[in-house]
Amino acid sequence: MVIDRDTKRLQKKAERDRRVEEVYGRYPELAELDRQLRDVGVRLLKWAVSKAGEEAATPLNEERAVLARAREELFARLNIAPAVFEVQWDCPQCQDRGWSAFGEKCACLVQEEIDDLFASSGLTGEMLAQNFATFDLSWYQGQSARLGEKMAQVLALGQDFADQVLQGVRRQNLLFYGGVGTGKTHLSSAIANHLLTRGKTVVYRTISQIITSIYTAKFDFQNQGRQPALITGLRQADLVIIDDLGSEKTTEFVATELFELVNDRLRLERPLLVSTNLSLAELPARYGLRTADRLITRSICVEFEGTSIRQLKAVLN
Ligand SMILES: [Zn+2]
Repeated sequence: MVIDRDTKRLQKKAERDRRVEEVYGRYPELAELDRQLRDVGVRLLKWAVSKAGEEAATPLNEERAVLARAREELFARLNIAPAVFEVQWDCPQCQDRGWSAFGEKCACLVQEEIDDLFASSGLTGEMLAQNFATFDLSWYQGQSARLGEKMAQVLALGQDFADQVLQGVRRQNLLFYGGVGTGKTHLSSAIANHLLTRGKTVVYRTISQIITSIYTAKFDFQNQGRQPALITGLRQADLVIIDDLGSEKTTEFVATELFELVNDRLRLERPLLVSTNLSLAELPARYGLRTADRLITRSICVEFEGTSIRQLKAVLN
């Protein structure tokens, strides 16, 4: 990223130089004025490092003032925008350096990093717009008052979870289970968006995507032992969200790798959010006792119930 910014800065300066050359080519009198201005500048610099008195600088300053005025008039007469001579930075604040003079990150760099975080998170399409504010409790309330109340608590739980991950104090995982279209993905995305916009790293993948990456890393010899970014992310991200557990074809390999992943995150004390269409009772048979045990006993398990939101929407539209 640093190299990118340096390269970009050089390009922007080169663009400015090209514009200036073009203007000089068109208006040689301007080129001559600027040559004289540079010349008087050099002489002022020589005076500044010499021991000559103040009075020696006066004619130089006067000469420079005359030239500067002439330049202004020429600009007005030729109708040249002064911006032609300036580098057109995307961020004038830091001149595209990404850092302030005091070594603080510029807002543009913070934004760029957040954009990068989103791009590598795995959040796509409508998930990017799913946040806590758009988590629609009326869908649940419309089905029953009890469900409405319960989901209000679930929403609060999700918000607490996100805040604790943000503060780095979260120790317990979350496990969302229940039927398709009951809001699991929306709440998971809301948690992910909350963290990503605040500069945290999130890996959001379906179990199939995770397994494919692990498989490639382990067995694709063309990969030459290089670790895909996703594999590193699975260990290091501030939050890993495994979506759709149970939708994959569960093999011995899947069960083993899931165990490793869950265990790794626990060992590193980094939180995990798993969502599954399976019931808790189905987990041991699918992934083995020890994996199910770690998933269930080390998580707050939240059941999502109700008629599928997708079904309801289909009926209502
Ligand atoms: Zn900036």
